[in-house]
Amino acid sequence: MVIEQVLDTRPTPIRVPTSFLIQLASLALTCNYFQFQTQFFQQIKGTAMGATMAPSLACLYVAAFEEHHIYKSEWWPLIFKWWRYIDDVLLIWIGTDAQFFGFLDWLNQCNPNLQFNHYIHHSQVDFLDITVMYQNQKFTTSLFRKSTDRNTLLAFDSFHPHHLKTNIPTGQFLRLRRLCSSTTEYITQAQNMIVRFQERGYPYKILKRAYKRALYVRDFLFLKSTHQQDPTVNCILPFSTSSKTISALIRKHWAALALDKFFRSLRFMYRRGRNLRDILVHTVGHPADMTYEGGHRPCGRCSVCQHTNTLTQFAHPHSGCLYKLSGTSDCNTRGVVYVITCPCQLLYVGKTQRSIKTCIIEHRSSINISKENAPLVSHWIEKSHTTADLQFFVLEVVLPPARGGDYSLILLRHEQRWIFRLNTIIPHGLNSEIEWNHFL
Ligand SMILES: [Zn+2]
Ligand SMILES: [Zn+2]
Repeated sequence: MVIEQVLDTRPTPIRVPTSFLIQLASLALTCNYFQFQTQFFQQIKGTAMGATMAPSLACLYVAAFEEHHIYKSEWWPLIFKWWRYIDDVLLIWIGTDAQFFGFLDWLNQCNPNLQFNHYIHHSQVDFLDITVMYQNQKFTTSLFRKSTDRNTLLAFDSFHPHHLKTNIPTGQFLRLRRLCSSTTEYITQAQNMIVRFQERGYPYKILKRAYKRALYVRDFLFLKSTHQQDPTVNCILPFSTSSKTISALIRKHWAALALDKFFRSLRFMYRRGRNLRDILVHTVGHPADMTYEGGHRPCGRCSVCQHTNTLTQFAHPHSGCLYKLSGTSDCNTRGVVYVITCPCQLLYVGKTQRSIKTCIIEHRSSINISKENAPLVSHWIEKSHTTADLQFFVLEVVLPPARGGDYSLILLRHEQRWIFRLNTIIPHGLNSEIEWNHFL
């Protein structure tokens, strides 16, 4: 409702109809779910934490609250100043303390969804990252850091682009200069900041330059930006050891791209690549991961058991490389990438969403009736191998995605990766080709 009111105040002509935006907003706000252990829950009250829309909505909601209650109230004349950042309010009260508590009681009765906590002081108050002081009839400001704040500045030996690390001190000292109303205060606070940067391994030279740069520019920091729309094309790449090579390559051939009017100038930007945390920590844990043993074994009760042995790893017959088998599997395991070996040490990599047993039975019968002209079957016929020569094992158990997704595509990609890794394309193995298009 709040969103609708705001959208209705847009100047005409309106390019996107309000009703459509409302529909989108209600999807974004009501279709939030989370998973706890194996169960899914839908949030039915309030806005989900971390939703991209949440801060904007909070801002609009409190703004509407101000409009309807605060500005029109009998208390308004007692408020000398009222500043708000999303849902945090800093106000200067010119009434008595008793009147203030009366105002607070009234405020908390206006809307059950909005409850205000307060912190009151006669000469000094901390608000967001700033301390506001009232001394000698004057307001002054300084940086405020919670006593529980840790030194979380990016470590200088971190694997980030160099220019980014040298720009952090500049940004931080400018911020400090903007927040400190007097130069003396800036100098005192800057000493602390230098120590914190040094703890994170920053060279003194970079810090001194950033400190000096911010020292005399306070007035400029409050000027409105005259920055105009940039015609530059931003090329966003994940940051890695190859980033420099890629950007150099694009720059080398830039002349060809620049012939197009669209590409006026180019700027490279980097997105964080996969780090160890991404690889090691998963929000969704599979119960099977917990009881990980690894290895393949015959089930002992079926007709394909004769084609397999108990294995926990396998050595590639040509390269000699050792591979650990991932996941625990037997003849009845579903959703796997498997290997078939023949007496002349050639490998075939396949995948199946059904049980591996069914799949092996099918391979066996197509060899028996020489049904297909697939490389596996034709090799068996050409070399006069028998079905008894067929040996297989499960290379990897691929679990279905817990949050939904194209399982068969995921399996296919795993299969194609193994074909590449084990080099099983004819004539080195018995696969016909790698289908790269599944990775696009
Ligand atoms: Zn079996
Ligand atoms: Zn063979």
